[in-house]
Amino acid sequence: MIYKTLGKTGIQVSALGFGAMRLPMIERGNGKIVDEDKAIPLIHRALDLGINYVDTAPGYCDRQSEAVVGKAIKGRRDSIYLSTKNPIEDASGDNWRRRLENSLTQLDTDYIDFYHMWGINLHTFENKVDVPGGPMEAAWRAKDEGLIRHISFSFHDEPGNIFKIIDSGYFETVLLQYNLLDQSLTAGMEHAYNKGMGVVVMGPVGGGRLGAPSEAIRSMLGHVRSTAEMALRFVIANPYATVALSGMSDLTMLEENAAVASIPGGLTEEERIRVADMLEENKRLADLYCTGCNYCMPCPVDVNIPRVFQLMNYSRVYGLHDYAKQEYRKLADGDIKNGRNADVCVECGSCEEKCPQDIHIIHQLRETSAALGVAAG
Ligand code: SF4
Ligand code: SF4
Repeated sequence: MIYKTLGKTGIQVSALGFGAMRLPMIERGNGKIVDEDKAIPLIHRALDLGINYVDTAPGYCDRQSEAVVGKAIKGRRDSIYLSTKNPIEDASGDNWRRRLENSLTQLDTDYIDFYHMWGINLHTFENKVDVPGGPMEAAWRAKDEGLIRHISFSFHDEPGNIFKIIDSGYFETVLLQYNLLDQSLTAGMEHAYNKGMGVVVMGPVGGGRLGAPSEAIRSMLGHVRSTAEMALRFVIANPYATVALSGMSDLTMLEENAAVASIPGGLTEEERIRVADMLEENKRLADLYCTGCNYCMPCPVDVNIPRVFQLMNYSRVYGLHDYAKQEYRKLADGDIKNGRNADVCVECGSCEEKCPQDIHIIHQLRETSAALGVAAG
């Protein structure tokens, strides 16, 4: 296992972190419960393989993840760094504190190593976190009492908004999204690193997108066995990334990821630059096609045009055919908030005049439907 120094904390953490958001589940009664007979040995195996960063959250695995992680780390608490999160539901420090106490109970521990303001954006930070009597003050108090060791945040916002939160100087680590297909937070990661923060990456394999086989991505480096391996190595090789957090649900996935996180250096600097250049070129090709600007929306029959074209790009440019087809069909299944796929377009033409890229949207939608829809098999 590769270990990296987590910013100014000086702590040595494993380059691969165990994300307890996809623990094995079984049907029980009307719902699902975590299969502890599988989940606990899985976490033990992760620790045996040298993983010392374990991340959970109150909502994971139907709200059972924290309790299962608590059981799994019994007797090994001092040799791991435990991370969990507090959803910022309002600006009340007292409510924040109640949620912290609940997590400590669920985890059955006296302290949390990395405690996150969960999923914040700049607006939440300024209006709900950093306010008199709010979560930030409550967090400092909890730290003084030894209930939490390090204050962290996880970030979901426009990339440019991360700088102000980092520059507050309040946080020791940040949890953010970064992977082969989404490098929008690269500058933010570098900034955090230069400020002495630890950078923990969620979604190193693109929320599963990069788990699907893609010869186009795998072949960027001849000696890499799978797309998932390539994706993980890409994150681990980034000098600004401290931990790549992967949600692992079985032993095979765990052992494969741990093996990748034990390859010294992940990718060489030369390989990393080569991959980044190739991805940049791919992105340029994709952008020529559709920038995702959304100007063509809304559509009277709810075709989600940018999403449909994004999926077409995943297939055409990145070779992620199976993933693209699967997601395209999900749009057909009628979850209206995500819009619909190209199959329902009535060719009214109202979108075409709004597209700054002058894309022949109707024609391209027809092509996408043929490539990803039912006719594509
Ligand atoms: S042409 Fe099709 S996609 Fe465009 S607005 Fe009309 S129905 Fe929607
Ligand atoms: S307006 Fe054109 S470029 Fe923008 S999302 Fe729609 S199709 Fe893509």
